[in-house]
Amino acid sequence: MKPRILLVEDERGLLLTLTDRLRDEGYEVETCSDGNSGFERASADSFDLILLDVMLPGKSGFDVCRDLRQRGVATPILMLTARGQTVDKVVGLKLGADDYLTKPFEMMELMARIEALLRRAPPVSPAAAAHQFGPLRVDFRSAEVSRDGKPVPLSAREFQLLRYFIEHRGATLSRDELLNEVWGYDTTPTTRTVDVHVAWLRQKLEENPRYPQLILTIHGLGYKFVG
Ligand code: CA
Repeated sequence: MKPRILLVEDERGLLLTLTDRLRDEGYEVETCSDGNSGFERASADSFDLILLDVMLPGKSGFDVCRDLRQRGVATPILMLTARGQTVDKVVGLKLGADDYLTKPFEMMELMARIEALLRRAPPVSPAAAAHQFGPLRVDFRSAEVSRDGKPVPLSAREFQLLRYFIEHRGATLSRDELLNEVWGYDTTPTTRTVDVHVAWLRQKLEENPRYPQLILTIHGLGYKFVG
């Protein structure tokens, strides 16, 4: 089965170049050239990955990303930002994007990022369909988290990290182990990346993120999930 990619990009030239290249690489590609149709398409159908430009007519890429996560769509999102939008990159990741690439980029770089994100997509586990702790429920099949029935939007990476924690409940996990198991490649992410994602998970899941009860810090060693 070919991985399906949704490409949302309004620059016609880039859209065509990317579509050709992605198809050559063996992906099934669908395209949208504005934010609203991109959002509609991504929420109506299931894709393995979304390539999302930031500056789009209609809804911006940021709005599309945020609204998809709020809807519980956990598809990995790779954002394409214009040169110099450093602040925007941070905003994009906070809104639930999984990675970003600054234009203009090398095609090889884009392909490597896509492969890495697809490798990290959460596999369906038939063994455990869901995990409930307190008011929180994690559904592994739909990749959705809810608190008292209300959706808690997580990025695909945050979800994978949470999933790994749940699968290793009670074990002290080092930052290096988490990095290897959840991120799985050794280019840009550093152990600091783990800390940042743990902080984001705590913000979203803990009753009081300053005094975490679910993801504990084990000083000098790493983290332990006890939910
Ligand atoms: Ca654009």
